[in-house]
Amino acid sequence: MTAARNAVSVWTARVVPVFLALIVAYASYVITGPLAIQFLLNPPEGLPKRTALGLALPIAYLFLLIPVAATWVRLLVVVWREPGYIPLGAPRDPAAQEPAPGLEDFWLLDAFACDARGLPIWCPHCNNWKPDRTHHNQDVGRCTLKMDHFCPWVGGVVGERSYKFFVQFNFYSFLLSGYTLAVLAYFVAQGGESNDLKVQWLIALGLAGFFAFFTIGITLNSIWMVFRNVTSIENIDAFSRTMLLAVLLPPELQGKTLEGPPTPPQAHLRPDSSPSRSGESEMPLTSDLDDPSHSTYFSNLQTPRPPRRSSNLPFQERIWRGTVTYPLYLPIDRPPLPAPQPRTFAILETLPGMNVWDLGSAYRNFKAAFGDSPHDWLLPIRHSPCCDHTSLISQYPLGPDFEELLIEAGLVARPKHFHPREDVVPHDSKSATASRKRRRKRRLDDGWQNGERPDGWFSEKEARRVRNDARRRMRGDLPGRDAYQ
Ligand SMILES: [Zn+2]
Repeated sequence: MTAARNAVSVWTARVVPVFLALIVAYASYVITGPLAIQFLLNPPEGLPKRTALGLALPIAYLFLLIPVAATWVRLLVVVWREPGYIPLGAPRDPAAQEPAPGLEDFWLLDAFACDARGLPIWCPHCNNWKPDRTHHNQDVGRCTLKMDHFCPWVGGVVGERSYKFFVQFNFYSFLLSGYTLAVLAYFVAQGGESNDLKVQWLIALGLAGFFAFFTIGITLNSIWMVFRNVTSIENIDAFSRTMLLAVLLPPELQGKTLEGPPTPPQAHLRPDSSPSRSGESEMPLTSDLDDPSHSTYFSNLQTPRPPRRSSNLPFQERIWRGTVTYPLYLPIDRPPLPAPQPRTFAILETLPGMNVWDLGSAYRNFKAAFGDSPHDWLLPIRHSPCCDHTSLISQYPLGPDFEELLIEAGLVARPKHFHPREDVVPHDSKSATASRKRRRKRRLDDGWQNGERPDGWFSEKEARRVRNDARRRMRGDLPGRDAYQ
């Protein structure tokens, strides 16, 4: 089934771009040949010769064609050559108990999307962890960063690396087809005498009309989603969906969650039955040797324990789903270095309608996808700023809803100028949304959108330096993050 779907999709993806090129070629031919040369420059008997118009119309068409071609080529190159797939992992033994490698890409950050155990989301097809906003696509069989949709028109998956070019391509295609539609409609309405010319005009007119409406619809819909910082996938049930986030606890809570007798975690790590450890199965885990605290994992499998209870936080119990402490285990072949500092994360469930990646205003969200300056908005050259994953805080910048989540979870004190929460229950109602928007506006000046942490949260430079060191130790080196150009 999947194979058949793959075959059909790949076949469509190869044929449709050719088909599209033929349509553009035909429209170009009709504008230059049957309209400009055969009708305006060499008019039929009894009609005046219109040289200026016969030259201006095809030249204007050409000027509109250039950005369409440029964005299309850029889009195809990105979609076919570097669409933002996550790497495929080695096939896993289903009986393996320890998590697959690569977790440090997540727990060295301060927040990441997770499952109920506090692990990042796992893709069983790609055998790898999925960064935030990544989705698996059946058509190509790969996970794509910030995947939007599979697009047969461009022959592949549109994701964070291609979305800007996709929207630009649609916008410029609308300008071109709209222009073609207007020009041909004018001359068809004028009533050309020559019937064989008019047939060609009408065919091109129909195609231009179809594409003009098609592309303006896609452009407007895409821009609307860009303004809200959602992908097509996230937009489904955007106002009722919830998700789980692992959020680094502030330092004053880091030690406390490790107190008491933890239930042995289900995924407690015994050094057996793992393919990667065959031949070394008698050896204890490094973490058991050099850091006793590493036996404390998946504390969320116990009864959830909010850090502190407060009647001002009516949603706290609903949000608080437990904690998880990383690293879960240390590879046994690592160099003999001190174990990294354990990092305990709260597992928080967002309230319905929250979008933690919404940066708080349409303009900020637009700039995250399209860049800071108008030439970035118009030219298909630079990648979106959201392709930059070098932040040590999260894979994508977090916005005011994230801050609100921390406040509601009791991890951050509510700023004085925030209204108490009681006035805005329940989240799903219209008045609550409006109220949230008002609050969001007030918080815009606080530097949130630059990935800074809220007041009272963990933000010392020293912690960042230690984390960088740990990251380097875990990997041997920082990998080249060349996604952002
Ligand atoms: Zn996948």
